[in-house]
Amino acid sequence: MSTPAAHFLPTTATLLHDHDALLLDLDGVVYVGPEAVPHAARALTAAVEAGHRLGFITNNASRPPATVAAHLRDLDVPATAQDVVNSAQAAAEHLAREFPAGSPVLLVGTTGLREALTDVGLRPTGDRHEAVAVVQGFSPDLGWQQLAEATHAVRSGLPWIATNLDATVPTPGGPAPGNGLLVDLVARAAGRGPDVVCGKPEPALFDAAVTRLRARRALVVGDRLDTDLQGARTAGLDGLLVLTGVTGVRELLAAAPHERPTHVGHDLRSLADTHPGVRVRAGDGQAAATCRDAVVEVTGGRLTVTAGEAGPDGLDVLRAAAEASWAVADAGAGLAGDGLDAAAGAVRDALVVPSGDVRAGL
Ligand SMILES: [Mg+2]
Repeated sequence: MSTPAAHFLPTTATLLHDHDALLLDLDGVVYVGPEAVPHAARALTAAVEAGHRLGFITNNASRPPATVAAHLRDLDVPATAQDVVNSAQAAAEHLAREFPAGSPVLLVGTTGLREALTDVGLRPTGDRHEAVAVVQGFSPDLGWQQLAEATHAVRSGLPWIATNLDATVPTPGGPAPGNGLLVDLVARAAGRGPDVVCGKPEPALFDAAVTRLRARRALVVGDRLDTDLQGARTAGLDGLLVLTGVTGVRELLAAAPHERPTHVGHDLRSLADTHPGVRVRAGDGQAAATCRDAVVEVTGGRLTVTAGEAGPDGLDVLRAAAEASWAVADAGAGLAGDGLDAAAGAVRDALVVPSGDVRAGL
């Protein structure tokens, strides 16, 4: 049996104490649609009172930062426009590092992107013949003419920056085509993809936030493995997965190496918790993991909770189960299909969910 390095990292005191800035995803972490996530406002107010900087990190550039900040303040979350970092700003800041002030940039997309370019001293233009680069962001008003201009510009060899590659955007009627699909139209017509993508999981958005907040040790907080937590790993930052959004037990047990969190919590109250590490032993397609008094084994494609002590926040079994599952997966014997369903069921039975909260996603 070997002892692979665990992904969950022990904190020296509370999670908040070990970091100086929080880079927070919004939907599924701070709010869900118009409603605040339970406990989010109080936890973030406490973080600000303890001297922490907050950055609200969003791929969605269709709402200007001031509008997002006003929405957050309506939910009693302390926020100013300056605290909101979106992918349009990251794209503009990237271009400002590459080109001198006043350079014309072909704008394909939103009003938010126009403002972001102007804010960093660049000049939005609709004329590809004078442009030094192309920048594309989501807009519900984007038409064929603009997509055709973008295609000609990209084919002529101009650098092409995309704010994000989200395939869909949420609308009241359900998912609708997002910037990723509109970028794809240009890419297929032009025969090549964008040179730089700024949104999560690419690190540019987190890099821009770390610079703006002057953070020395930032913590990314998110609910999605393939954007927030993958982005945290790519940017070299710690990542807290909260279970208030799209990720539940099954998804966490099946997480790929590049999207595994360093911490997990029910919700933002876990910022005030001391987080444990996990010890793992693995070999011959088997693994055993111990988190405080919880022990989980995976043998022959089956996960067994050997000691089901939930721990102070109720999640120690989940931490041990995730590390054991990941260890066998990394050795080529991962849980899948029915085995994964059974494992997730066994872990759910052993979790302790905070009273008064409904966690449908688990
Ligand atoms: Mg989210």
